[in-house]
Formats: sequence, C-alpha cells, structure tokens
Amino acid sequence: MDSFIDQHISELVSKRRRLHELAEVSNKEKNTAEQVAAWLKETDPEELHTGIGGHGVIAVYGPDDAEGSIMFRAELDALPIADPDDFEHASENPDVGHKCGHDGHMTHLLGLAVWLKENTPKKTRVMLLFQPAEESGEGAERVLEDPVFKKLKPERMVALHNLPGYAKHSVILKKGAFTSASVGMMFHLEGENSHAAHPEDGNSPALALAALINALSAMAGNSFSEHTFALVTIVHARLSLGDVAFGTTPGKGVVMATLRAAETEVLERMIPMAEKQVKGICSAWDLGLKTEQTEYFQTTVNDDELCDSIEQIAEENGLECIKPLYPFPWSEDFGRFSDVSRVMLFGLGAGKEHPQLHRQAYDYPDELIVSGLKLFIGLVNQIES
Ligand SMILES: [Zn+2]
Ligand SMILES: [Zn+2]
Repeated sequence: MDSFIDQHISELVSKRRRLHELAEVSNKEKNTAEQVAAWLKETDPEELHTGIGGHGVIAVYGPDDAEGSIMFRAELDALPIADPDDFEHASENPDVGHKCGHDGHMTHLLGLAVWLKENTPKKTRVMLLFQPAEESGEGAERVLEDPVFKKLKPERMVALHNLPGYAKHSVILKKGAFTSASVGMMFHLEGENSHAAHPEDGNSPALALAALINALSAMAGNSFSEHTFALVTIVHARLSLGDVAFGTTPGKGVVMATLRAAETEVLERMIPMAEKQVKGICSAWDLGLKTEQTEYFQTTVNDDELCDSIEQIAEENGLECIKPLYPFPWSEDFGRFSDVSRVMLFGLGAGKEHPQLHRQAYDYPDELIVSGLKLFIGLVNQIES
C-alpha cells in the first residue's frame, strides 16, 4: 500500500488542486462532477452512474454476485466563500471556494478508485459516491430517493470529514451518535404598520419578537436535563416594512433559529415545543404567524463494528485515535443514510492550529490524502480478507 501511495501521491495532489479550482456551490456542481466522472472512467469501474440526486456520481467495482457491499462517500460541493487574494490554486469561480475540504474528501475516493483498478475486489462490491449538495442538507435525501442508489443498496457506508482543531492525521471516532441533528426554523410575524406617532392604530411585532427571542433561547435549558444536549441558537431577527423610517412602526418581523440535539428524537420533541411557544406569544399579541423549516439534518449513528474496524486500521498505520465522549454539535447530512445502511462517519485531524472549516483562510491540507487513503484501502483489505 505504501508504495502505491508513494507512486500516486503527486498526481493525487494535482487532482485535489484542480478540484479546488473548479469549486462550485451546492446544486451547481456540474463541472466538478464531469471532471470526477472523467477520472473515474480511467479506472475501469464495472458501472459508472452520473446525475444521481442532482449532479451526483457513483462508480462500482467488484463482482455482481458479491457477498457484501460497501460505499464510500465524498461531497461534491463548495461554499459561497472566496479564496484569499494571492492564493496559489485559487477557485476559478469568483466568491466560491472549497472551504470545507470536500476537494480533499473527493481526492481520497479518487485515490481509492485508482487502487481498485489495480486491486479488483473479489468478494465485495466497492462503490464510490460523490454526493451533491451536502452543505445545503438536501443531497443525501435526494441520493436516497434515486433509483440507481435504491438498486445498489449498500450494506455499509463510510465517510470521513477533516477536522481542524485536532492533531494532524489523528482519527476521531465514536460509536453511536457522532454528529447532532439540527433544523433551521423561520417564524414570520405579521402585524400592521402605522404612523410612529400613532402606534395604537397599528400592531407592531417588536415586543413579541423580543419575547420570542427570549423564550426560544431559554427553551432548551428549561426543557431538558443537563445530560441531554439540546440547543437553540437565534441566527437572525428583523423587523420590517419597506424602508427604515423613524415615522413608521413596523408591520412585519421574522426570527430565525437553529435547533440542535444529539439525538434525532430530542430534536423531534423540540420542534413542536418551539412552535407552541411562538404560537402562544403571537396570539397574545394578536399577530399572524407563518412557520417554515429548512436544512433538516438527522443524527449520524455510527455502527459499532465499523467503528472497531477503523480503530484497528488506524492503529496498524500508527495513527492516533481520539474518542470524544459526546457527539459533535454540528450536523452532517450523511446521517440520513443511517436509515438504510450501517454507517460510519469519522474525523481526520487537520492540525491543531489549522484554520477552521468555512473560514476564508481554510484550505485542505494535502498531507491528509495519505492518511485518508490508508484508512479507506485498509478497510477494503480487511473486508476482502
Ligand atoms: Zn461544510
Ligand atoms: Zn463538509
């Protein structure tokens, strides 16, 4: 395996940088997907599917009548964040950048594809999924609904995410819940505007909006024990009616909040709880209310056996394992696959001082290609043996 990696690393680094240059946001990953499919074609997969749940791509290796199957997943999308000026392999799309390292995650799978070409699996179907629209939380759901995915029905699914803040090449793994469930909620308050000298003739949502922010912020702490991770974060609030004017009271308001919980069931309890609070406040102020939900992510629940396998392979390769006690508060739409498959999502340390994900200064550390690839090849070897 080491000689394979030595032989291919410089080509993989250039592929990673090319993907960085192609950066495209969720649902617009057309050129990235075309490039990925072209590279995959060179590795002679048994099947190559494009247009999966949007721009998704799946390559399949190994026999039809395999004993078992495993699918590795990477994400195609970048973020609406530009690369800094004077960046070496800067994105060709202005204001779009790979600031979550999905270019690196794709490269692990492209390396695995080259390896699979040279080491055709005998017992297992190995599939590589390049999933669209992860950042917007829609991609996994759409892949699940795709007839090609339904037919392939992978028994096991594995993905990694690079994690700044952890020692480079360390493997962060946990059985059970790994990332949290979350949902974005938007509450639109509808009152009536008036002349600011005669607020009594209108119905400003201002005080209700303030009450609502307080109530939502306090909700999680008041409703769950300290052992349950539940969090409500207000992300946006606005009072409005046309232009801002000192002579007019507002007639409309909106509050946006992100609800998070370690377990999907807890989040499912929080949603109606928040709705009830907001409804009560709006009716007390005689305001109209419209509620919307967006970007729903469920908990990623890791499979015990796959977790043990990754730990064992990490140890064999001299990679340090870190086992957090609690699930991460962030969310990943990979959790959606827990419904149909045994899943394993783990972290790969990107360096303690490395700029955080979704920050402009972030770039995927190319050194991680080696450790990521070792873990994935190791897992295929273990399943095949
Ligand atoms: Zn991200
Ligand atoms: Zn990401």
